[in-house]
Amino acid sequence: MVDINGKTKLLGIIGNPLSHSLSPIMQNMAIAILQLNYVYLPFPVKTENLEEVLKGFYALNLVGFNVTIPHKQTIIPFLSQITTNAQIIGAVNTVWHTDTGWHGTNTDIDGFIAPLTKIERDWSKVTPVILGIGGASRAVVVGCAKLGCPEIHVLARDNKKLEVFEQSWANTPFKSKIKGHSWNKLPELVSTTELLINTTPVGMYPNIKETPINLEEIETIKPNLIVYDLIYNPRPTLLLKQAQKKGLMIIDGVEMLVQQGGKALEIWLQQPAPIDVMRQALLNQLNMNYE
Ligand code: NAP
Repeated sequence: MVDINGKTKLLGIIGNPLSHSLSPIMQNMAIAILQLNYVYLPFPVKTENLEEVLKGFYALNLVGFNVTIPHKQTIIPFLSQITTNAQIIGAVNTVWHTDTGWHGTNTDIDGFIAPLTKIERDWSKVTPVILGIGGASRAVVVGCAKLGCPEIHVLARDNKKLEVFEQSWANTPFKSKIKGHSWNKLPELVSTTELLINTTPVGMYPNIKETPINLEEIETIKPNLIVYDLIYNPRPTLLLKQAQKKGLMIIDGVEMLVQQGGKALEIWLQQPAPIDVMRQALLNQLNMNYE
């Protein structure tokens, strides 16, 4: 796909493990279509080697890289600057080279919002219900606040973790918007919302018969409810299948994955990303995985 020569510039992703990462396929397809002399490589990195790897990358003049589990938080002290979004979320997924060191941001917010901005809705009248309080949930909370949602309900199965989560927003502009609830409030809250977002891994391959909430059992659902599941394997999840049966609008996790990658590429290349090509590369790969 890419002709590597003495002028080829380096991009990549760090994480551990990386064997299932779809980013190299998606990003290298984009690079090929743009006919740029770049290559995007997977770099499996152990936590104890992170600092050393970053110094090495800087010396090698890498243009930038993505960051995934388990380095999204631990990388922060090694970066010379991070955006406000990354600070609030407490995690970085995109890093780029500058004269003053590595700078980082989190493009999951842009990725999450992208499919919602294409829907005609007055978001200032929507109070979303978010399942889960992990890393992705933080990006979703900020995304919902950016859309203009006045209040954001967040549900967790562990009340102690929920308390810590709520406290972690204390010094942010989103503090007053976030309302934490224990899991048993779910049926009641689902009946009143127009946007339900699953940020838990429940229903993800190989546990495809699981769902965080059995929508079939909930009778009083608003007909204009949007059900958004961040999971992209399988497509659709059981949650989304049940929503489809009820005639509800559904969004799976593919678009978020594509758009967060597109935003990262734009930061590195300073030009628009070929989103359609990236989406197709990802879908081809996901379909192959099902066969
Ligand atoms: P994470 O940090 O591990 O957080 C997972 C959250 O789900 C935690 O709050 C966890 O609660 C909760 N949870 C797990 N099992 C549960 C259950 N049985 N019932 C209720 N809550 C449960 O994971 P993450 O990084 O946020 O990722 C979460 C999901 O989002 C994954 O499926 C991931 O693939 C997906 N994701 C997709 C994209 C995309 O681009 N489409 C991006 C990021 C993430 P406990 O702490 O109590 O376990």
